[in-house]
Amino acid sequence: MAMRGSPVCRLCRREGEKLYLKGDRCYSRKCGVERRDYQPGQHGPTARPSKLSSYGEQLREKQKTRRIYGVRERQFRNYVEEAERQRGVTGENLLRLLEIRLDNVVYRAGFATSRSQARQFVNHGHFMVNGRRVDIPSFLVRPGNTVEVIEKSRKIPQLVSAPESAGARAVPGWLKIDANAFKATIETLPIRDDIDTDVREQLIVEFYSR
Ligand code: SF4
Repeated sequence: MAMRGSPVCRLCRREGEKLYLKGDRCYSRKCGVERRDYQPGQHGPTARPSKLSSYGEQLREKQKTRRIYGVRERQFRNYVEEAERQRGVTGENLLRLLEIRLDNVVYRAGFATSRSQARQFVNHGHFMVNGRRVDIPSFLVRPGNTVEVIEKSRKIPQLVSAPESAGARAVPGWLKIDANAFKATIETLPIRDDIDTDVREQLIVEFYSR
């Protein structure tokens, strides 16, 4: 029977690019996109690339972004609505909202190898914001907030080894890291140039304004 590959990696293959959903594996030769550079499914290896309509392009960009940040449809729509209410460029507002989620901050700071691992760490209560335990991955941080690993979790092997694995990723300039103290400080809100997520956010805005 043919190997189906990891269900998570199928999401990347569906989008035709790496979404970096599996931590260390994404940087290795085991990466599903590198091993099977074609669409998942029975006809994947032989399927011809189809030309997407503008709706199709918008839909794919929205799905890709949801998958990268691990956000459900309802919540994603809420972020879009919030981004529309804010001043400034809606697409940039949307990306900023996704970036300042606590799980994303934990990932960006190098305390987890993937956003899904970061989400799990937060869910399990391993992090504090401004000295108080927060176990809600969607919690939005603000400038001046500190995010740190609680004292008794500082020996958990996956948490201790995460910064080493995250070495290939640059910590964004809006975060200041004190690795010895297992602590990140939010210096400022990220602007678009600070966010290296490879998405065309304008297409997402267009998708929801149809
Ligand atoms: Fe799998 Fe990561 Fe490669 Fe995506 S980038 S296919 S999640 S290993």
